[in-house]
Amino acid sequence: MREQLERYLQLLLEANARFNLTAVRDPAEIRVRHFEDCLKLLGAADFAGRRVLDAGSGAGFPGLVLRIAEPSVRLTLLDATGKKVRFTQSVCGELGLTDVSCVHGRAEELGHDGTFRESFDVVTARGVAALPALCEICLPFLRTGGVFLAMKETAETYDGAERFGGTREEPYLYTLTDGRSHAVCRFRKTAPTPPQYPRAWGKIKKDSL
Ligand code: SAH
Repeated sequence: MREQLERYLQLLLEANARFNLTAVRDPAEIRVRHFEDCLKLLGAADFAGRRVLDAGSGAGFPGLVLRIAEPSVRLTLLDATGKKVRFTQSVCGELGLTDVSCVHGRAEELGHDGTFRESFDVVTARGVAALPALCEICLPFLRTGGVFLAMKETAETYDGAERFGGTREEPYLYTLTDGRSHAVCRFRKTAPTPPQYPRAWGKIKKDSL
């Protein structure tokens, strides 16, 4: 795992020199604020053998780090930005992660596609949108019984998830070696998402439920 993460770090640094991929550019900071942060997610749910969708994965966080640490994870990375999807595809090629699926698309659209909807055991998201919007675009991907993990700076509460078939659970709290405390907001899928959700992005932005 260490070697794979170090190779991933190298590829991130190379790509960052060519185009703006991540805001954090210092290797020591990347190790803590990206790698350590994403590894902490392993304590928030059981990932072994799970079908995991990382929504808005950007340069691969947290999904790729999880897949490197827990090789039995069946991972799909989803992002709306083509250059980020091409980057994660090339990282998977370099690291020999041939079973990872890197998808270019928008969560609120793929959430209506039968190959994605109600199909995952775990959905993750870090730094993508506010919690109400995230619940609307992420909960539809889960099968009943699955769990949505939203990585946030603090333990935010949101009770509106019920309308998307989600039930709020206790947040998972952790501290990084740099002293920062973060939280994983957790929602269990307890009922199928009604067919009208997710709505179009414009509607979600204008009128979060
Ligand atoms: N999760 C990564 C990236 C966060 S930046 C990290 O923590 O570092 C947010 C990413 O979400 C961007 O790459 C953006 O393209 C993507 N994104 C935002 N809204 C999206 C949507 N509706 N569907 C898919 N991807 C989305």
